Amino acid sequence: MFDHPFFDNHEQVVFAADVESGLKAIIAIHNTNRGPSLGGCRVWPYGSALEATTDALRLARGMTYKNALAELPLGGGKSVMMVPERGAQTPAMFEALGRTIEGLSGAYIAAEDVGSTPADMAAIRRHTQHVTGLAPQDGGIGDPSPTTAIGCFEGLKATARAALGREGVDGVHVAIQGLGHVGFALAQSLSRDGARLTVADIDAAAVERACDELGATPAPADTIHTVAADIFSPNALGASLNQATVPQLNVKAVAGGANNQLATETEGLTLHRRGILYAPDFAMNAGGVIKMAGEILKWNADEIEARARAIGPRLTDIFARAQAANRPPHEIAEGLARARFSARAVSSPPSAHRAG
Ligand code: NAD
Repeated sequence: MFDHPFFDNHEQVVFAADVESGLKAIIAIHNTNRGPSLGGCRVWPYGSALEATTDALRLARGMTYKNALAELPLGGGKSVMMVPERGAQTPAMFEALGRTIEGLSGAYIAAEDVGSTPADMAAIRRHTQHVTGLAPQDGGIGDPSPTTAIGCFEGLKATARAALGREGVDGVHVAIQGLGHVGFALAQSLSRDGARLTVADIDAAAVERACDELGATPAPADTIHTVAADIFSPNALGASLNQATVPQLNVKAVAGGANNQLATETEGLTLHRRGILYAPDFAMNAGGVIKMAGEILKWNADEIEARARAIGPRLTDIFARAQAANRPPHEIAEGLARARFSARAVSSPPSAHRAG
């Protein structure tokens, strides 16, 4: 483990197996200097335990950066559950995972992620308090996507200001890739404020809805990144900014909510060299984790929204520092996050969560 290429001084890596339910899961806790680690539980048909371990290590580290940059009193962690095929997970597996999480005494707080649902979080909750992302009927505050979209909207406006010198998005042309929970809500806010939208999704119904309801122009999913626009907004899957797509971009900036947009660090540098302003994804899309943190810390709706809207000013600060140093914004954002989590917090972990 210590020699694994993605091992980054993770505090704990726990392998959880339960014969009765068939659970095979890995919990990676990267850093708890700012507080208990919070990160989703990903369920995926991994090809091997090594592949699952790599994902857990990489994603846990990413959560430390995201939570620290968002100034949450939380560290970064992640769990991954190995299933033989998609949809093969059972409530019993999540209950067994809940028992393992309970054994970690609050060092890791689980949440929803790709492949898991609020109902799965409720199964975890039967054995531990250390879980968030529950449905309202189970005492949670519901879907984090609208809050993610609020943060993305504020982040996109900050990007328009820095890259185009525009106040607001009236008349700004945004090419949106992905019209799911985050992408569609973002498109609605942009349209309401007068932006011009070109949209793509592999789901034709989502595109049709955006065209009907928001007056958007459709584009093919495989060429949306080539559209001549002001801003490209990736809101689908990761690695949309890669060796093939970055040279084809025809925009002044990239700002979207998808996770892990840069295939590698090199693409961040290439964007910088091409003069395309990149809004770091983990700054843009922190609204969801802010909402989940709010559930743990008992923040009210106003506080959650204010923290999501603070993503705008945070990006403005990142862009200013990046310009002053002539460095890519994602490097600046990572540096700011590192400074926030590298020292152990003086204050104790969130008391609301401890009290359950
Ligand atoms: P979603 O599944 O609701 O939406 C994704 C959309 O992208 C779907 O409509 C899908 O059809 C579309 N899509 C997939 N491949 C595509 C392609 N090649 N081209 C165009 N469209 C494609 O997911 P979501 O919750 O909206 O999340 C979107 C992204 O934002 C993901 O990367 C997710 O990790 C990230 N994110 C989401 C949240 C949240 O609160 N939901 C928080 C942080 C980050």
